[in-house]
Amino acid sequence: MNLSDFGKRFSRPSGILQLMEDLGEALAGNGDVLMLGGGNPAHIPEVQLFFQDRLQRIVEHPAEFAHIIGDYDPPRGEKQFLAALADLFNREYGWDIGPGNISLTSGSQAGFFLLFNMFAGEFGGAPRKKILLPMTPEYIGYADIGLVDDMFVAQRPSIETFADRTFKYHVDFDSVTVDDSIGAICVSRPTNPTGNVLTNDEVAKLHGLAQAAGVPFIVDNAYGKPFPNIIFGDASLPWSEQAILCMSLSKLGLPGARTGIIVAREDITNAIARMNAIFNLAMGSFGPALVLDLVRSGEVLRLAENVIRPYYERKARQAVHWFQQALAGVDYYVHKAEGALFLWLWFPNLPIRSEELYARLKSRGVIVVSGHYFFPGLRDEWTHRHECIRVSYAMPDEIVERGIAIIAEEVRKAING
Ligand code: PLP
Repeated sequence: MNLSDFGKRFSRPSGILQLMEDLGEALAGNGDVLMLGGGNPAHIPEVQLFFQDRLQRIVEHPAEFAHIIGDYDPPRGEKQFLAALADLFNREYGWDIGPGNISLTSGSQAGFFLLFNMFAGEFGGAPRKKILLPMTPEYIGYADIGLVDDMFVAQRPSIETFADRTFKYHVDFDSVTVDDSIGAICVSRPTNPTGNVLTNDEVAKLHGLAQAAGVPFIVDNAYGKPFPNIIFGDASLPWSEQAILCMSLSKLGLPGARTGIIVAREDITNAIARMNAIFNLAMGSFGPALVLDLVRSGEVLRLAENVIRPYYERKARQAVHWFQQALAGVDYYVHKAEGALFLWLWFPNLPIRSEELYARLKSRGVIVVSGHYFFPGLRDEWTHRHECIRVSYAMPDEIVERGIAIIAEEVRKAING
């Protein structure tokens, strides 16, 4: 096949492709696989029942049903849903935004493709710009999104370790520089893969750096504020002319609805809506239809607070406990579980690389993600990037527990040669 540069760039193997293929194969029914790999949200019974009920009510109203399956929504997204979102933000955070400050995307992944290529890459012959990821490890799904090579520049974090074998990454502000080569700053919060939640202070400093440089500060809230709010401590949501806040319905329990939300200045959301028309014609109607009432009433915040967050918090504590038991005596650290669906394990003296550990675990039917994928834009050869794995704890407890036991066995085998 004689492919264009575009065809070659986006059809080559990538970390996110391997992750999603592993996920798809495991969930397609091979019951022997312990899937601790992808970022699939849990099927939380209360949440499932809620959406089942909502779907039922739609089916019982022929006019609503016909509209949802039979009409294109506008490229910015369904109007009532945008208005309900703007009201929710204004009520909850005291902002003063309107529907024009919001544009939907076909999943937030598609939103990042648009945003990153809007603010980084070629600038009509002027020097190229990059997206600054001020703290790696950072989300695997950003890595291959650029229309040009070297889209990202990233910094190592500083590492704080604790006596109970937990650790936490912090932004190393001494090495973060925002010069003319930076088109935007981006962080995921909570961070996929580590479950780290940048502190309010770190976020305020990064926001300040972006404002001083006049570049957007993109915050990926896929797991965070205001929903699904899988954050186990305190976290504010920054807002200004410079902020671009990305959200998603996926981790609320609706990854199949492919609905991303971008909240930003109107010139930015207008550009996104125009690009949506070119790339997608219209936004999908199902996600907005399923959550409109929840957003209007504010019930979505209570669902996150009372059901979703506690569900994952319990699972996180349980998974950390299982690892602490299973790895007793091994040289390991687990990142503080502050949010999202993952534990991030660090084995400082493992004689094999994380890529090999992934392969050995896969051959034993346990899918994790090798940590080396999560350092997009980091130029220096830091051994740490081959010493970590990401483990999801979203699956049912017995699967997570069996998976953790096998991970510990394989790590011990590798250490003992
Ligand atoms: N951002 C982060 C940090 C993620 O983990 C994911 C998915 O796992 C996404 C964005 C994209 O999610 P979606 O396209 O389903 O909204």
